[in-house]
Amino acid sequence: MAAATLAAAAVASACTSEPGPPPGPPPGAPTVEEMARTLGADVVTALLRGYHPSTSTDVAFVPEPGNTVVRWSGKGLGTDAADPRTTHPTPWDYHQRVPIVLYGPGRIEPGRFDDPVDVTAIPRTLGAMMGADLIRGGVLVEPDASVGAPPRAVVVVAYDGGGWNLLEQWPEAWPFLRGLMDRGAVFTNATIGSAPSVTSAIHANMGTGVYPNVHGVAEITARLPDGSVGDVFFEEEADPRLLEAPTLGDQWDARNDNRPWVGMIGYESWHLGMMSHGSEWPGGDRDVAVLWEDEPDIGEFFVNEELYELPGYLPGEEDLRERLRVLDGEDGAIDGSWRGWDLEDPTIVPGTPAFVEHQGAALLEMLRTEPIGDDEVTDLLFVELKATDFGGHIWNMVAPEEEAVLRAQDEVLRSLVEALDREVGRGEWVLAFTADHGQTPKPETTGGLRVHPDILGRSVDEYFGRKLVQKVTPSGLFLDHGALDAAGVSLEDVARFVATFRYGDGLPADVDRSAVPPEDLERPVFAGALPATYLAELTEGEAAALGPGDHPEGDLTSPAPVPL
Ligand SMILES: [Zn+2]
Repeated sequence: MAAATLAAAAVASACTSEPGPPPGPPPGAPTVEEMARTLGADVVTALLRGYHPSTSTDVAFVPEPGNTVVRWSGKGLGTDAADPRTTHPTPWDYHQRVPIVLYGPGRIEPGRFDDPVDVTAIPRTLGAMMGADLIRGGVLVEPDASVGAPPRAVVVVAYDGGGWNLLEQWPEAWPFLRGLMDRGAVFTNATIGSAPSVTSAIHANMGTGVYPNVHGVAEITARLPDGSVGDVFFEEEADPRLLEAPTLGDQWDARNDNRPWVGMIGYESWHLGMMSHGSEWPGGDRDVAVLWEDEPDIGEFFVNEELYELPGYLPGEEDLRERLRVLDGEDGAIDGSWRGWDLEDPTIVPGTPAFVEHQGAALLEMLRTEPIGDDEVTDLLFVELKATDFGGHIWNMVAPEEEAVLRAQDEVLRSLVEALDREVGRGEWVLAFTADHGQTPKPETTGGLRVHPDILGRSVDEYFGRKLVQKVTPSGLFLDHGALDAAGVSLEDVARFVATFRYGDGLPADVDRSAVPPEDLERPVFAGALPATYLAELTEGEAAALGPGDHPEGDLTSPAPVPL
């Protein structure tokens, strides 16, 4: 009898392979409070403003300055051919600090300002200039009462990934922008306002005048309402329904019975938050939106036409192909490549100067054709130029390809300003220039490390002895709440484990470990990791009291030198 019971117990145990009780955090792991103090007040405030309970990661991690969490291959490690790819979601200064420039002859007094401001002030300021206090909060400049009528058009231009560190890298590549800065109001101590510094979240900051903790678009890869993890605009659906706050465009349309013209050109759905919900917002209409999809062939303009209008007059594929041919021939040979990159590859084309020119041609056609600035009701035009970011991901900001795309974007900016003077009239419009984040310097040039997200996720599961991780993104971990509860593992335990993760724990299989300096194998990857439970309870006052932190890159509020 006893033997049978033992045998049955052994079978039961083998069948269910019930894991033992989970371990606590690793010995010596820093506490959450210690990590918050290490990160400091500015960084934790950015993470707090960027946290939304519905869409955010469960554990937000912050790599040590210079490190980047990205899918990469070990091919070329230790050689000149090292994989240049990086990501840019951190709260460190090189991602957070961006230019804000207000330009409007006769309307904006030129000057330099070094008080700490962020991109959420842009829609508030433009709203005030339009004569409508639509969004509460501070403005960059008070409207000049002596000017008279509001501007007929306001324009927001965002260079994707065009933070100060990119401009500093290529100081000769933006002569027209530099001229606008000379003749406009430049905010040299501006940030994007929140972290993670991801495209979707920050474009929504620019559009709504509030942070992700209010507008809800906290991530690119986000927690979705059904509990899964995926694209915050639902991939090709390009649906902004998780953007909970109205944009300036939504509110301006609603106030004026959709008489204003509202439109944008950008690259993908992640930029829609800078403009509007289109007809999805109660009372809204189908605003003009020109986005891009990388199929068929080399790609084409597109948008979700249920909510937005895609114009019929845009330049077609032949325009892009001709521009690619000219680019191809720059080196004297028509061989289908530019600096060795395949110009037929839809995952390369959007990072080229030819693509920038193609978007620029579409923008000029919009200005020629649409009724922008035609009547007294202020119209709103939004422009996002992607190539600086796209190229930064595939080539890195230090690559000469980035200088070429920055120059091409500068030419689009020049032609935009000339067209506004021509079509709307000098003195009748105002332009705000900014960027949604800076870029990650190439790790090989800074001593930074690349960490593979999937390997980090597997390490979490292995340490806790069960499958807990749903997805690891460049900004944090999404975890299976049911599995956490069943096992009695807290988010705090996971965050404290992440803090102990070392570079040698996360190398892809094809990396030759002997090529890595032994001291690098032992280096901690993360400066800290904060569980959602901590951010959900934290107040701005408590974050502000954390002190300066241990990293100079965590100072986001002191005036900093900029390449002017
Ligand atoms: Zn971006």
